[in-house]
Amino acid sequence: MGLTQVGIEAGRAGACPAPVICERFDDLGADGRPVRLGIMGGTFDPIHIGHLACAEQAREAFGLDAVVFIPAGKPAFKLKRDVTPAEQRFEMCRLAVRGNPAFDVSRIEIDRPGVTYTADTLRQLREHYPGNVSLFFITGADAVCSILKWRESAAIASMAELIAATRPGYALSEETRLTIEQSGNFRIHMLETTGLAVSSSDLRARVRSGRSIRYLTMQQVLDYIAGHGLYGWKQDRKAVREVSEVGPDQDNRSELGEVDVLGDAFYQARREQLKHRVKHKRFEHSLGVSETAARMARVYGQDERLARLAGLLHDWDKAYDDEGIRARAVELGVAEQLASYMDMPHLLHGPTAAAALAREFPELPSSLLQAIRLHTTGAVGMSPLDLIVYVADVIEPTRDCPGVDQLRDLVGKVELEELFLETLAYVIGNLIERRKLIHSDTVTVWNHYVARAQERGASNDVKGSK
Ligand code: NAP
Repeated sequence: MGLTQVGIEAGRAGACPAPVICERFDDLGADGRPVRLGIMGGTFDPIHIGHLACAEQAREAFGLDAVVFIPAGKPAFKLKRDVTPAEQRFEMCRLAVRGNPAFDVSRIEIDRPGVTYTADTLRQLREHYPGNVSLFFITGADAVCSILKWRESAAIASMAELIAATRPGYALSEETRLTIEQSGNFRIHMLETTGLAVSSSDLRARVRSGRSIRYLTMQQVLDYIAGHGLYGWKQDRKAVREVSEVGPDQDNRSELGEVDVLGDAFYQARREQLKHRVKHKRFEHSLGVSETAARMARVYGQDERLARLAGLLHDWDKAYDDEGIRARAVELGVAEQLASYMDMPHLLHGPTAAAALAREFPELPSSLLQAIRLHTTGAVGMSPLDLIVYVADVIEPTRDCPGVDQLRDLVGKVELEELFLETLAYVIGNLIERRKLIHSDTVTVWNHYVARAQERGASNDVKGSK
């Protein structure tokens, strides 16, 4: 349900200090207990499921309390190769690790000027964390092979133990391991990662040649790569399909190449697409909102085709979980303006859907996108289409909550704004009954429309007394 809801901004009064190492684990070890911290060093161009599985398996195998991914700023051994800008590699790492509370990502290497040397990174970590925090530097076994050539390798050996991750075809022989250990004073642990023959270079090559990278990295990372056209990503139809699960190719383009977004073919194509994006019940709900919105548009003299499409698409982003929808808001560049909803992520899917649809289908009218954006929160000064979508979301036929029938009965019998106010009262009453928080924006919307109703009542009284 896109019910109006709350975001209490508790404890956000003062500005938070910038993290030194990373947001989640700056205070690690402060209580004096022994802590084991994993450091995932890498270029991460791009990050993929092999890296994530490796970090998770290292965490498990070596009893690590946390793992920080540290994307290299200017990788020492890649100075002659074109590497994706550090900020973008950092952003992809951030999107990938958000969902795991034991993971975080650090900017220390990308913020440090000059060539990235692991010794400098470990020194920075050693200076920040107390002695009870032990460091485990995790990286590919093939990277470890060259470690004796790394700058200040003796210092590296004194500051951290190494975890060398092998993957099919890339193992470190026992002989090499012993040589490195003995000549460099290293403590090296081997970690056999299971069956993940994925590599960043393979992902880049796949994108370049238009092949799929779906399931080889997190969907948010894939969306980011597509959204920013990285690695030669081409926004052709095949690629778009990979990002957004487009169904059968039914878009009807006119001879001029324009898409008639209010036409049947576009509607059917989005309907197919939605079917794959959301669960069956949500899909049925969306069809119900679409039909109801179209009917209400007829009754209240609004554009029926606009209403049916807005109803169909209003829950376009509903399949994300809390972490996913927050990451989606970040990726779409709308997180800052939605800061007050970040603590109530179930309110985000309206605004993210509007932003995502605008990106994917630039031809969609702004009035339709607005109705989708506002369906979770409402707003002061809503258009008739906004009111219709909001109400239709609550009264569509698959909803069988007590009290909804009374609202259904009001369609066509009362003014649209009055119907909206009744619906809002129903929604807020529900929240209060279930002891749910109410967002201050919702209270503002309520006060605004109640005041307008009072004004209407007063002017009716005046007219009636004449
Ligand atoms: P790389 O040479 O690109 O990686 C070598 C192999 O290890 C690749 O197959 C790579 O796979 C894999 N790999 C990289 N990081 C991994 C990780 N954390 N877990 C599992 N496998 C990983 O190495 P790199 O990414 O540039 O560097 C690795 C780390 O070593 C970085 O932190 C880098 O700063 C450090 N390093 C330091 C020095 C120095 O201080 N002089 C020199 C070289 C490297 P993918 O291609 O799929 O990632």
